[in-house]
Amino acid sequence: MKRRIGILGATGSIGTQALDVVERHRDKFEVVFLTAHRNYEKLFSLARKFGVKRLGFSDPSLEIPSSGDFEIFRGVEGLVELVSNSGVDRILVATTGTVGIFPTIAAIRRGIDVALANKETLVSFGKVVMEELSNSKSMLIPVDSEHSAIFQLVEGRRDEVKRIILTASGGPFRTWTLQEMARARPEDALKHPTWNMGKKITIDSATMMNKALEIIEAYWLFGTKSIDVVIHPKSIVHSFVQLKDGVLLAHIGFPDMRIPIAYGLSYPERLEDVGKETHPYDLTALEFEKPDFERFPALRLAYEVLEKMGWYPAAMNAANEESVYMFLEGKIGFLDIVRIVEEVIRKMDEESPRDETLRDLLEVDRRARELARRIATL
Ligand code: NDP
Ligand code: MG
Repeated sequence: MKRRIGILGATGSIGTQALDVVERHRDKFEVVFLTAHRNYEKLFSLARKFGVKRLGFSDPSLEIPSSGDFEIFRGVEGLVELVSNSGVDRILVATTGTVGIFPTIAAIRRGIDVALANKETLVSFGKVVMEELSNSKSMLIPVDSEHSAIFQLVEGRRDEVKRIILTASGGPFRTWTLQEMARARPEDALKHPTWNMGKKITIDSATMMNKALEIIEAYWLFGTKSIDVVIHPKSIVHSFVQLKDGVLLAHIGFPDMRIPIAYGLSYPERLEDVGKETHPYDLTALEFEKPDFERFPALRLAYEVLEKMGWYPAAMNAANEESVYMFLEGKIGFLDIVRIVEEVIRKMDEESPRDETLRDLLEVDRRARELARRIATL
């Protein structure tokens, strides 16, 4: 029987690669719905190709000239309705930003499995997602390449794990000085050496905030604070797991997001013919370096946030998202991104204590964005 799936953020980098996987394995999957934010032309064309009738647009005010014979769902409520009532077995959450939380919760409440690419959701609302999961039969399968790697490495041996070691490419500014980074323009930051991704995550890779978010993501997924980061420019080792006796397990393969996406869609089954196979002869001169917290303060901040948890990750994530967009709009410099995130956290630290319900965390998210915009104009 085919697995019935829905893809949120189908027009993006992850979404289109997921549809590539589906195209190669049409006998395994039936695509029941697709969503985008605004790009209806691309979504309509994907929907026609895959015979999908139900479509969602997260922008509630989007005007579509003619929707043909598609059934259209609008706004976040529309996405939640799509997830809840479409009879899917699994969703892939591949939207950017924190909007993914509402369809994710809706899926978990219906016992629908979630393949999660959208790390922001877990960083900001990890506690809520984990609580919902503990009352549900849904599975959460990580799609982020490092977390998919760790998920595969720890399966069946969670009690033996001593440490998780996330690999990071180091991004386009791995060898840049702080002075050079201070002058970096969006077009410099958008040139990622190994991965071809959406703009937001590409900027996050340049500041290494992407790895900062992944540290928190790993905490929620694997329940440990024993998390290291190593710089590995070639992105061939997708992460390591160190066991109690010191043994180091590595997950190896060419950088190709279709592999973790396919696993997220097919788990517990493994699909054939997903991406290019890696052979030991391909593993020449693999290098691993210590991360530099001076040039990449996002990493230092992540460890502070990991220590404190509570509302801190939600503030870090929301302030970062806002700052990344301000950088892309040319309103702030590259080094201002993490500087603003740190300042937002300091300011919020001085305010009244906060709880960790969904409502409180959404308020943290709103407040952090407001503060980030305000600090940028000072
Ligand atoms: P893209 O920017 O390529 O795509 C984003 C998708 O989300 C598009 O379908 C877009 O629709 C939609 N979208 C944009 N804004 C909103 C919004 N406000 N509300 C709802 N949907 C929106 O992103 P990526 O595919 O690169 O990344 C998606 C997620 O996956 C991110 O959370 C990222 O961190 C994570 N990820 C990505 C990796 C990658 O290789 N790309 C690797 C690991 C994780 P529209 O086209 O209409 O704008
Ligand atoms: Mg990653």
